[in-house]
Amino acid sequence: MSQKKQYNIRCPKCAQEQAVALFESVNVTEEPALREALMLNRLNAVTCASCAFAFQVHKPLLYHDVARGFMVYWLPVPAGAEEAGERQFAELLLQLAAQQPAGQALPAMYLVFTRTELVERIFLLEAGLDERLIEYVKHLMYLNNQGKLDPARKALLFDAQDSTPENLCFVVQDVTTRKMEAVLNYSRKAYDALAEMFRAEEKMRMLRELFPGPQVSARALLCRQPDES
Ligand SMILES: [Zn+2]
Repeated sequence: MSQKKQYNIRCPKCAQEQAVALFESVNVTEEPALREALMLNRLNAVTCASCAFAFQVHKPLLYHDVARGFMVYWLPVPAGAEEAGERQFAELLLQLAAQQPAGQALPAMYLVFTRTELVERIFLLEAGLDERLIEYVKHLMYLNNQGKLDPARKALLFDAQDSTPENLCFVVQDVTTRKMEAVLNYSRKAYDALAEMFRAEEKMRMLRELFPGPQVSARALLCRQPDES
């Protein structure tokens, strides 16, 4: 079931404070319209009661796709606060596990820190792709384009809509300007070959060691280890 939470929000234009109910969790299987609202960047939109200014509020959101069996927790944290975010996520997992009916496992859980990552992760999971493998592909792309693709300044985003049966499509986004600057394709055959290779237990362990989680991000990994590039 989708749930709302009451917040006191100050209008960024006229500074008027008002109480608004914003979604803290959405069940998109029960309410597919909430998925659409999120994709159109209309979820948790607020219109100021005083000056009619319309704006967006970013609060922690649990996205639950019951039919596909996954949850993505979007925790908007300032850059540098990811570790605290990971601890908060661990607490949420304990809380959800405690609420789970006996004998029922939690669905697959994912953590993201930005709305862009949330949308990307939803598309990726809906397409039946593995988030660690996709981040591994991005990792390869960064390493193969050193000097051209700086992980500190450029994000790589999986683009489900422009992917084809032959190619997985990735767009290069400038982190500061948020402009989409280039498109990189990765052949699906190569992806399938990677998936086959990582099916082996030992290789899978390597992938999990590279991306232990809960945040699975090639960019975050490379930004954390600048010496290796
Ligand atoms: Zn206002």
